[in-house]
Amino acid sequence: MRIVFVGPPGAGKGTQAENIIKKYKPVHLSTGDMLRAARDAKTPVGVEADKYMSAGQLVPDEVIIGIISERLKRDDCKNGFLLDGFPRTIAQAEALDKMLSAANTPLDVVLELKVHDDELRKRLAGRGRKDDKPEAVEERIKGYHSITSPLLDYYGKKELLETFDGIGTTADVFARIEKVLEKF
Ligand code: ADP
Repeated sequence: MRIVFVGPPGAGKGTQAENIIKKYKPVHLSTGDMLRAARDAKTPVGVEADKYMSAGQLVPDEVIIGIISERLKRDDCKNGFLLDGFPRTIAQAEALDKMLSAANTPLDVVLELKVHDDELRKRLAGRGRKDDKPEAVEERIKGYHSITSPLLDYYGKKELLETFDGIGTTADVFARIEKVLEKF
């Protein structure tokens, strides 16, 4: 199964991604996790990315596209993957399309986890991750609406989009996701 997972910061993507991985076994490709690991290891890419991450901004497209295109070439992606946090811009989505069509491995589905902004603010205030400062949170929510949400239209037109309500217990939300993933 080749899945893209989209949702605003704080929607619960991380938790649901874990549930999906456990049950369906795709490789988990979280760009947030990759960038945080690079930042903590102080690699050149990580140091550069941290400037954007701590301000709540997106790292430049060419950086993240480079990371993902290398990662998708690895053998473990042949049995399916869950892209979590990528693509986040139309340019990234177009680059992904090119990589996947060159490899003849199109996406099966794009999952959108939907949660309204007030609930996101509440959840992120309680999470306390390094880049969860209030100004950075506002910036990320704003960025989601202006830069990332056009992807929903992009994938909607390709008839790949499945939208889920992210409000409820984690079990409720996962049950909604399972109902769709059973089809693949
Ligand atoms: P969240 O979904 O909570 O905003 P992530 O863990 O997915 O957080 O990402 C953390 C940060 O890493 C983002 O705020 C951004 O700076 C950077 N990042 C992650 N994925 C991408 C991407 N596809 N393009 C650009 N920047 C990204």
